[in-house]
Amino acid sequence: MQYLFDENGRRYLDAFAGIVTVSCGHCHPEILNAITEQSKLLQHATTIYLHHAIADFAEALASKMPGNLKVVYFVNSGSEANELAMMMARLYTGNLGMISLRNAYHGGSSGSYHFNCLRVGCLLVACKSQGEIHHVVNPDPYRGVFGSDANRYAKDLQDHIDFGTSGKVAGFIAETIQGAGGAVELAPGYLKPVYDIVRKAGGVCIADEVQTGFGRTGSNYWGFETQGVIPDIVTMAKGIGNGLPLGAVVTTPEIASVLAQKIQFNTFGGNPVCSAGGLAVLRVIDQEKRQAHCADVGSHLLKRLRALQQTHEIIGDVRGRGLMVGIELVTDRNEKTPAKVETAVLFEKLRELGILVGKGGLHGNVFRIKPPMCFNRDDADFLVDALDHAISKL
Ligand code: PLP
Repeated sequence: MQYLFDENGRRYLDAFAGIVTVSCGHCHPEILNAITEQSKLLQHATTIYLHHAIADFAEALASKMPGNLKVVYFVNSGSEANELAMMMARLYTGNLGMISLRNAYHGGSSGSYHFNCLRVGCLLVACKSQGEIHHVVNPDPYRGVFGSDANRYAKDLQDHIDFGTSGKVAGFIAETIQGAGGAVELAPGYLKPVYDIVRKAGGVCIADEVQTGFGRTGSNYWGFETQGVIPDIVTMAKGIGNGLPLGAVVTTPEIASVLAQKIQFNTFGGNPVCSAGGLAVLRVIDQEKRQAHCADVGSHLLKRLRALQQTHEIIGDVRGRGLMVGIELVTDRNEKTPAKVETAVLFEKLRELGILVGKGGLHGNVFRIKPPMCFNRDDADFLVDALDHAISKL
């Protein structure tokens, strides 16, 4: 279900899926049933002993991965997943330096936070206190200095390694569509040369699929597939458990073997109830053909939003893939001046009209449309018509 109800029973169309978490929809009966049945059997035990709910889920998840990405570690959140991925990268390569993109968001814990670069202050903190985290220019086709020229952004990363590091790095981490950063899809063809550069510098490539994973981008199961690459480590959370506190890191046996020699322990990671929920999520995505649905409804939504862009000057950019869409608002199309105040006003107006959307981007001027994957064409029309009406009344 794609609706939420307030304490007065008023219905809202949830176009943000909780916080990109409830990807299969609120209160999905099959997922609820799986959680309930597992709760009756076993809620938790030491994860030193493998429970079949955990093993079944790990196996099913690994079957969704390409290449040699076959070893699964469970954690409780996206931040923890990225912390663990960073630890793996550093242990495996023996290097310290990590590269992430400007405008990225990878978590709120002390390690993952330093990957972030959503505010200038954050970048300064990162450079000062975590000398080994380097932020390079994000290949943003709308605002980026090199437009959609993936090779020039890749060259910038190469320069950064050559002149800003020892020449050796532990790894590179990126989302394929920057989520909190405002649904910014990386310039097509960016990740391929970058993965080559990073690997030549001794590093491993990490794909953060916390928002882009599990079919949301439409034609692919994972966001990185849209760029034709296979990462060395993949991190996931949010939609993985349809709102349950669950995250995962998937990597190759070779990288995992380094971790196996260390003490690596997580009390609740791979909790049987969350694992049962996660397994049900995978079933639902397949049974209900959610990927194809996201591709269909997403292209309809993008088409309608692009038509609306022709009518309203304030819509500077419409972008995205599947049901991961960004609408960037500007007061001046040439200057791309962020329409911060107007975005805040429209956000409230949409809520009054019964629609919940996400808000984000570097300047807080982007509507993020990432609904549950059962969101349909009628919902998309309702959203676009409401936005049209709200903008007309500004
Ligand atoms: N990575 C991405 C791409 C995210 O969007 C988020 C959260 O918004 C995280 C990591 C951190 O996940 P969590 O809030 O579950 O720790």
